[in-house]
Amino acid sequence: MDVKATDKKYVMGTYNRFDLLIVAGEGCYCFDEKGKRYTDLTSGIGVNSLGYCDRQWADAVAAQARTLNHTSNLFYTEPCVKLAEKLCTRTGASKVFFANSGAEANEGAIKVARKYSFDKYGKGRDTVITLKNSFHGRTITTLAATGQDVFHNYFFPFTQGFRYVESGDMEALKREADDSVCAVMIEFVQGEGGVIAQDMEYVKALRKFCDERDILLIADEVQTGIGRTGTLLASESYGIVPDITTLAKGLGGGLPVGAVLVYGKAENVMGFSSHGSTFGGNPVVCAGALEVLRRIDDAFLDDVKRKGVFVREKLKGAKGIAEVSGLGLMVGIKLTDKNAKDVIAKGIERGVLMLSAKDRIRLLPPLTITEKQLGEALDVLLEILAE
Ligand SMILES: *Cc1c(COP(=O)(O)O)cnc(C)c1O
Repeated sequence: MDVKATDKKYVMGTYNRFDLLIVAGEGCYCFDEKGKRYTDLTSGIGVNSLGYCDRQWADAVAAQARTLNHTSNLFYTEPCVKLAEKLCTRTGASKVFFANSGAEANEGAIKVARKYSFDKYGKGRDTVITLKNSFHGRTITTLAATGQDVFHNYFFPFTQGFRYVESGDMEALKREADDSVCAVMIEFVQGEGGVIAQDMEYVKALRKFCDERDILLIADEVQTGIGRTGTLLASESYGIVPDITTLAKGLGGGLPVGAVLVYGKAENVMGFSSHGSTFGGNPVVCAGALEVLRRIDDAFLDDVKRKGVFVREKLKGAKGIAEVSGLGLMVGIKLTDKNAKDVIAKGIERGVLMLSAKDRIRLLPPLTITEKQLGEALDVLLEILAE
């Protein structure tokens, strides 16, 4: 079968795919139809946290698929409950709602924030402030939440009730935070926006301000969560606790999952019939996520931190690199003159897969990659940049 041509014919043309057909994967490597090997520094956009087809993860998923594949949320299942308990005990959250993607998790978080405010203050306190250059998803509401004009096109009317302020500008936020505001939503490291980490003082000031005004702080950790930045949640590195945290990408280890974690005062906002999902908390997905969480212990996280430092030391001062941004194994590389897209294309030719974010190279390697594997792949990148 001519996969590429058939894809173009039958799959809606929303993706500008790289010219590469992946047929199998193992650890940090994947293979095309000719058997050529690639070191994958994208992990399916931060999803394959344990790499491709991790043996124990695949065993857990397969065993669950043979035992109980799906029930809907009309019934209790153990994997869902175990995952909820694990997530809450590991993060300090009180409760969780399971969705199927990052956008859906963010939709859930916005619902929680608006209902919290409605229950307490009544109608009209429903605005969510988000940051310029943010990315929160592709549904009509999460596009509206995304603070980039390029996403606010074609699909009018967008959901009302979003305002955007510049990252790091506490005064601008205070100006916008009138009595109609119920929540502020942030990414600790803006992923799609160019791998830009928030300033520590700003985040602390934001937490304090939201507390004073009873505005809920929503942390979109869809990309930063589940070990990516060297702590289980990026909020830990920033030393704050949000009111709501959303997770997705890396949580399932390769299966679609989203989660809305609520803390403290947000814990009992959502009651019977306020939200739901047919697939949410699916047993197979939860069995995979449980294996991901089981593996990401303190030693694993220390290793991620070490590898994050290793990447930065390796790239520091290299030819063609203007700046390295991000946190842990979420890496942004600003180039001095080369175009990120060209560098990525050359990487594919030489067997290394990389992402872009705005005009930067973005690396989201599987968290299990070894320093040696990482070093070899970065040597290829450095070689391309030096040409
Ligand atoms: C990827 C991403 C989303 C959207 O997740 P989907 O699973 O594609 O819906 C939302 N927020 C952030 C920060 C993301 O990186």
